[in-house]
Amino acid sequence: MIAKMVDQKPKVAVIGAGPGGIAMGIQLAAGGYDFTIFDRNDGFGGTWRNNTYPGAACDVPSHFYSYSFALNPRWSKTFANQPEILAYLEKVATANYLANHLITGSRVTTLRWSNVDRQWTVETEEGAKHQFDAVVTAVGMLDQPNIPDIPGANHFRGRTFHSSAWDHSKTTAGERVASIGTGASAIQYVPEIAPHTAHLTVFQRTPIWVNPRYDEPFTPEQQELFERDPVEALKVRDAAFEAYESANFGVDSEMTNELTAMARAYLTRKVTDPDLRAKLTPTYPVGCKRPLQSRAWFPTFALPNVHLETSPIVAFTERGLRTADGTEHDVDTVIYGTGFHAADYLRSLEVYGTDGRRLHDDWRDGAEAYLGTVVPGYPNLFTLYGPNTNGVTSIIYILEAQAEFVRRTLDDMVRHRIPAIDIKQDVHDAYNADIQRAMQGTVWLANCNNYYRHPNGKVVTQFPYSGTQFVTMLGQVGLDVFNRTEATACRESTTLR
Ligand code: NAP
Repeated sequence: MIAKMVDQKPKVAVIGAGPGGIAMGIQLAAGGYDFTIFDRNDGFGGTWRNNTYPGAACDVPSHFYSYSFALNPRWSKTFANQPEILAYLEKVATANYLANHLITGSRVTTLRWSNVDRQWTVETEEGAKHQFDAVVTAVGMLDQPNIPDIPGANHFRGRTFHSSAWDHSKTTAGERVASIGTGASAIQYVPEIAPHTAHLTVFQRTPIWVNPRYDEPFTPEQQELFERDPVEALKVRDAAFEAYESANFGVDSEMTNELTAMARAYLTRKVTDPDLRAKLTPTYPVGCKRPLQSRAWFPTFALPNVHLETSPIVAFTERGLRTADGTEHDVDTVIYGTGFHAADYLRSLEVYGTDGRRLHDDWRDGAEAYLGTVVPGYPNLFTLYGPNTNGVTSIIYILEAQAEFVRRTLDDMVRHRIPAIDIKQDVHDAYNADIQRAMQGTVWLANCNNYYRHPNGKVVTQFPYSGTQFVTMLGQVGLDVFNRTEATACRESTTLR
């Protein structure tokens, strides 16, 4: 075999064509890399392509939920809806000529590192194998739906679907509908479908705090001003940015206490029936679960055809769901608003690193990475939106910084003729020990169930400092934190050290 020379630019695979994959593609294109983006879907957009449920919108202000290099002066309102966000992402991908690099309908199942070739083999569901020098996972954190294992599901004669795979083939209007879950997705689609259903039962396991959403349209005059004078658009973006930067996620912080008091007052104002209000009142502080905003959630329960059910679901019947109190709820459709396997990072992938080590074994006590981006034992692998990168700012801001970091690191490898890098174990361990120390006292560890934690209680999704701190730390990382292969001419004779 003729060894590949190290002074060639690495060939890169990007798994996922969502906001992270697009940011990565733009960086790789700008750097002149040979790269391929794989996606199981039929185009760009990722989560914003999948989640098409009625009312789907982003609860991060759109001027901040956009790339800094591709501001959009034409956002229609504070919190844009899914079609507008998808159109924006597609437009950015098109403007950067990424379509030529995209393989659609291709589900990557396995990544295998070879110490000999110092390459990754990317395997797809259809059995194809591709060789790459580096791999960037950009699969998001909320891509694997959680569908609870409810006894009797096979016997149900109606239809079921998850919020992230909405069945648009048939409307829920006029139907008897059951919706399970009361998270960020349900509070958006339940108020949209409720008025049109014959009957809607919302199955709540845990009540949620909700504050009103201040969602205002931008007038044509404002949009023209943003277009003419980007500084005006930046002011809107900066206001959102600053609000996140100043957040304090301490369990007893002023922010937590203030938001909890506001949510309690809002609930008291909006729900006057004491029994219903008691059912809707949480026992944990705002922030323990993702903070939610809606003006439509509470009024929905005043509709005559809507019922809030708090008795736990015990089984499916042929005609619907049975709850622990013995009631049978006959319905035509059951919607799972039951969230995602967020804490189970890269759940859809099998990843084998040096000497065949398996990532899901290494992560059995909870996923960890250095700055959420690189994992010891997995050379030349980068994880966008990886462990402990969530929660404190717009994820687009984080993804952009990660994509820049990957490009800069690849550029450094080319410059120094280093074919493989692997984050040093002690650097990784010290970083993660600090992250978990900083996690103590945060609202994410308060007395609620949330998707931020591994079953052993460790918070694996959240970043405990500010977004700027994350970006600054990542910006300071150089090749010195990595074990590197020797800078010899050919791949064959080098080892990681
Ligand atoms: P989620 O917040 O995790 O909520 C899932 C809901 O399903 C919870 O109410 C949960 O109850 C319930 N549930 C789960 N398993 C259940 C079971 N076996 N029986 C009964 N109930 C069950 O999921 P999500 O609403 O899909 O939102 C997930 C995340 O997606 C959000 O936090 C956010 O990050 C993202 N998202 C973002 C936006 C946005 O505007 N940017 C919009 C939608 C979603 P428990 O509370 O008791 O666990």
